[in-house]
Amino acid sequence: MPMESFLSQEIKILAIDDNQDNLITLRAVVSDAIPRARVITAQDGSSGISLALSENPDVILLDIVMPVVDGLEVCRKLKQDGRISHIPVIMLTALKTDRQTRVKALEAGAESFLAKPLDEVELIAQVKAMAKIKESADLQRLEKSRLASLVLERTLALEKELNERKKTEAELIIAKNKAEESDRLKSAFLANMSHEIRTPMNGIIGFSELLKETDIEPDERDRFIRIINGNCQQLLHIINDIIDISKIEAGLVEVVPADFCLNELMDSLAENYRQNASCKGLQIILHKDPHCVESRIHADQTKLRQIMDNLITNAIKFTDAGRVEFGYKIRDDRLDIYVKDTGIGISEEHRNIIFNRFWQVESGLARKYGGNGLGLSISRAFVKKMGGEILVESTPGQGSCFSFSIPYVQSCIKPLSQAKTLPEVTDFTGKTVLIVEDEPDNFDLLNIILGRFHLIVLHAWDGNEAMRIFNEHPETELVLMDFKLPDVPGQEITKQMLQLRPQLPVIATTAYAMHGDREMALEAGCAGYLAKPIRMNELFQIMKSFLN
Ligand code: ADP
Repeated sequence: MPMESFLSQEIKILAIDDNQDNLITLRAVVSDAIPRARVITAQDGSSGISLALSENPDVILLDIVMPVVDGLEVCRKLKQDGRISHIPVIMLTALKTDRQTRVKALEAGAESFLAKPLDEVELIAQVKAMAKIKESADLQRLEKSRLASLVLERTLALEKELNERKKTEAELIIAKNKAEESDRLKSAFLANMSHEIRTPMNGIIGFSELLKETDIEPDERDRFIRIINGNCQQLLHIINDIIDISKIEAGLVEVVPADFCLNELMDSLAENYRQNASCKGLQIILHKDPHCVESRIHADQTKLRQIMDNLITNAIKFTDAGRVEFGYKIRDDRLDIYVKDTGIGISEEHRNIIFNRFWQVESGLARKYGGNGLGLSISRAFVKKMGGEILVESTPGQGSCFSFSIPYVQSCIKPLSQAKTLPEVTDFTGKTVLIVEDEPDNFDLLNIILGRFHLIVLHAWDGNEAMRIFNEHPETELVLMDFKLPDVPGQEITKQMLQLRPQLPVIATTAYAMHGDREMALEAGCAGYLAKPIRMNELFQIMKSFLN
């Protein structure tokens, strides 16, 4: 601290003396000599110590001879207390020649001493010197505490930095492991996918070649066609899985609830898989909730069916003997569904990771079961989107049980009364159908199938031509509308046609085959939806429903 600052500051002096007169004299002397001095006084040791604590004086003038607690004891106490030990103490001794007392004063911790009667000049000089000592001690203390807080601050910052570095390091290790795992899975997926795609392709190409031969027996020809068809379905399944997983990753999965009959869905699943299961000698057992007779619910039927398809296909695939059971139960506001098998089971270490995409317990060339490792991760994402969680319990060698629970929302729409169902019409002779299709092969196929039903077929290559033909042919009774047209989107053309003829059945035919396309078609006002590849049976069902 510079000198000027010292001179300009107030000097606080605490005088402790049992003699009131002495105190008055001290105050007068000090105030005269140092105008900026302020003298506070105490007449005994303990109030002196209290004042020292509360006032933080710059100098203490302490009389030695006092009743109760003498000055030496007071000095010791002052010097023992860390809060005030830095305040310089000048002891006031009785006799200049009392050497022993002066030594004791220094031993008690006093910085200086003065003998009575006091020499005013010496007193003032000492007070000033001590005040300076106190000031520099204060500065030192201040600097020390500033340094200490700086060190603390820096230490904390370093600790924080170190923790962050450790965290980043841990995150990097996790990310690296993930990247390596993902890389490994992707390579396995590609190798696997190549196998999964080439296998059905091999069947399709090979048996199509064989079909060209002229001398095949009709039975054999039917068998080849069945094989080609089966392989095509397998390919389609793979493509759908890839589209689904891409949609999941892009966050584009939407739940589209509608009213449907849960028992019908369960029955149709049991029916579809019974043959597959019996080929392996497995039993299919369905348990419907006996308290749920009508079982009309409001949920996303397409996704529910797809989840069940994945779980039942797996259950059959990974079971060599025994049975596959599935069913549902309604528990308050939840719908619990499960698929259980008596198959190979899943070890504990694999029970969670099988839900990760591309993950399969079996890997490498010696794979026995096939598959692309996407079914469970798609199912898990769908269940989650529908408000549930998929779980697995399993005992290796004994079987597995996959279960999930989604919110149960009862449908508020009553099923149509059976009595009102119209009689089936299967003769479509002479009825006119407009096909809007820009792909020649696709048109060819539809044209051949519809020709078999003796329908009159009109054809438009694009949206504008479709509107023209539609206007020229009011006898048109049904439209098969491709949604992806070269000029105007099929949805637009559908809306324009329905504005003119609201009762006209327009059936959307799309090759996107994305879940959600059906809803897009219905939103445009279509009466139905056919995903490509179009199956003859499905087309026939559409004709039956709309051409009567
Ligand atoms: P994929 O069946 O096409 O391989 P999934 O995602 O459906 O793919 O299943 C991932 C893996 O989980 C399977 O490869 C198999 O190892 C295991 N898994 C699934 N379901 C079962 C089951 N019911 N029994 C035994 N293992 C199963």
